[in-house]
Amino acid sequence: MSFQDKNITCVDCNQDFVFTAGEQEFYEQRGLTNEPRRCPDCRRARKAQQGGGGSSYSSGGGGGYSAGGGYDRPQRQMFAAVCSECGKETQVPFQPRGDKPVYCSDCFASRRQTSSYGGGSYGSGRY
Ligand SMILES: [Zn+2]
Ligand SMILES: [Zn+2]
Repeated sequence: MSFQDKNITCVDCNQDFVFTAGEQEFYEQRGLTNEPRRCPDCRRARKAQQGGGGSSYSSGGGGGYSAGGGYDRPQRQMFAAVCSECGKETQVPFQPRGDKPVYCSDCFASRRQTSSYGGGSYGSGRY
C-alpha cells in the first residue's frame, strides 16, 4: 500500500496543508487512524498553549520501576496501612502485603537509626 500526499484544510486557520505520504505512513505505524485536522503550525501552537511539555510521557532516565503493575501515573500512589510497630494508621508508597511489616514514618525512622548500629561494617577487615 502506498501513500500519497494529501491536502487537508486546517480547522483552526482554514489554510490548506499537506499531510505528506511520509506522515501518513508514520501515523499508520503508530496505529493512528485519524488524520490530523490542524496544520503543523496550529498543532504546535496548541501544544505550546497547553503548556507543561509532554510530562505525561514516562521518559524518566533510570526507569527501574516494576512495582506499579501497569500504572503509568506521574503521581505516586499511596496505600493505607497500619504500622506493625505502633499500630498507627499510615500511608505507604507501595502495596502492603501480609508477609511484610509496614512501618509509619516515625517507626521507620527510629528503626533505621537503631539498625544502623552494627550494620555489617563490623570486622570486615579480617578473614
Ligand atoms: Zn492551522
Ligand atoms: Zn509506627
